[in-house]
Amino acid sequence: MRIIVLGGGVVGVTTAYQLQKDGHEVVLLEKNAVVADETSWGNAGMVAPGHSFVWSSPRAPMILMRSLVLKNQALRFKLSADPRLYSWSWLFLMECTAEKARRNTLLKHRLAAYSQSVLHEVIGEEDIAYDRNDRGILYFHRDPQALETGIANMRLLESDGQVIKVLDRDAVLKLEPALAGVGAKIAGAIHCPTDETGDPAKFTRGLAALVAKRGGDLRTGVTVTAIETTGDRVTGIATSAGTVKGDAYVLAMGCSSAGLARTVGLDLPIYPIKGYSLTIPVGNRPLPPTVAAVDEHNLVAISRFGDRLRVTATAEFAGYDKSHKPADFAFMKQVTQELYPEGADYERAEMWAGLRPMTPTNLPFFGRRRLGNLYLNTGHGHIGWTMSHGSARITADLIAGRTPAIPMDGLLA
Ligand SMILES: Cc1cc2nc3c(=O)[nH]c(=O)nc-3n(C[C@H](O)[C@H](O)[C@H](O)COP(=O)(O)OP(=O)(O)OC[C@H]3O[C@@H](n4cnc5c(N)ncnc54)[C@H](O)[C@@H]3O)c2cc1C
Repeated sequence: MRIIVLGGGVVGVTTAYQLQKDGHEVVLLEKNAVVADETSWGNAGMVAPGHSFVWSSPRAPMILMRSLVLKNQALRFKLSADPRLYSWSWLFLMECTAEKARRNTLLKHRLAAYSQSVLHEVIGEEDIAYDRNDRGILYFHRDPQALETGIANMRLLESDGQVIKVLDRDAVLKLEPALAGVGAKIAGAIHCPTDETGDPAKFTRGLAALVAKRGGDLRTGVTVTAIETTGDRVTGIATSAGTVKGDAYVLAMGCSSAGLARTVGLDLPIYPIKGYSLTIPVGNRPLPPTVAAVDEHNLVAISRFGDRLRVTATAEFAGYDKSHKPADFAFMKQVTQELYPEGADYERAEMWAGLRPMTPTNLPFFGRRRLGNLYLNTGHGHIGWTMSHGSARITADLIAGRTPAIPMDGLLA
């Protein structure tokens, strides 16, 4: 078939790759001059099934309420005139029961773990340099009580096959000597040795180059403007460079998917949740981190991509606004500098903000709705790099009429 993929983030590009592997002719449409230039550019790069916990948990309503009154929280909920914020928030709150949080977390973990296995297949077959680090991820706590709660929560993922190791302070410092200066402040950690990190934009661009080399038609600088339909079929995609026609179409435009889907009567509750990141050269600093870490107390994530650190934080409801100012990064920079004072050249930090395409369940949308040849692969939220490879393979399976390798109950709408 000739298949048109809409969107060139990590989800669109991995989908194009899997479809091409199946023997299809692929055309990918991306509005930016290069692929992976939106949310897939500046994320923390964590391939982290160990981080599969959904945000729609029983604690979420209180955290949202608190953020209305207390400023500078890791989560910033702001009232706005956008009615979609409220319809989305209502659906999100409906997912916040203990039972649904448990169910959604396990579904997400299933997809994330499968996705990591597909990533491993891909990197086993392809030569893509993306600053991979496979020393696991250290989820560390500063407070003994919080550590105990974190361990208890992790047992849920462990019951689904996640490997976890509980480390006391000495073991943390043995694994990560770069934290020695703050050792006294660390109660302990959960180490997920099979979690990993790597630069998602480097990976996506490397993979896109392979798809193009093998005959894929990657059209960058082309904006999708409309989906053309007749009856229950898509007949073409209107773009800034004319209409593009195929046999099947995949919607993978991240936060922009919802708006386009609405124009053909599909309601996809995907709302942007903004996050911030810093990319900091290690320079000649002697003690950069060697293992990716999440400071669970401050909700700051730190990854090492070769000669750079990537630091991310904050979940903010700011509509589609991606602007940022130095003050937005002050806290995450201060936390990172406290943890790794000799870890990077902090004066040369590059600032970035991006939008997580969040769904109320925190699970992406797959499969078809109403339009027989339009497939969804979108809404990957806060761990879309982690879930992209499996999601791409699942989409290729659904298009081929194959049964995906993991059970899809609860994942297909
Ligand atoms: C601060 C932060 C930290 C994160 N950390 C992690 C992490 O550590 N691990 C992890 O797994 N995930 C992480 N994520 C989430 C992850 O980045 C996203 O889930 C993922 O990048 C989503 O990929 P995507 O391809 O769906 O969206 P995008 O990367 O946004 O791609 C969508 C593409 O569609 C294109 N597009 C949109 N509209 C049009 C149009 N009209 N015409 C043509 N093209 C269009 C866009 O230009 C874009 O390239 C993080 C996110 C943030 C913000």
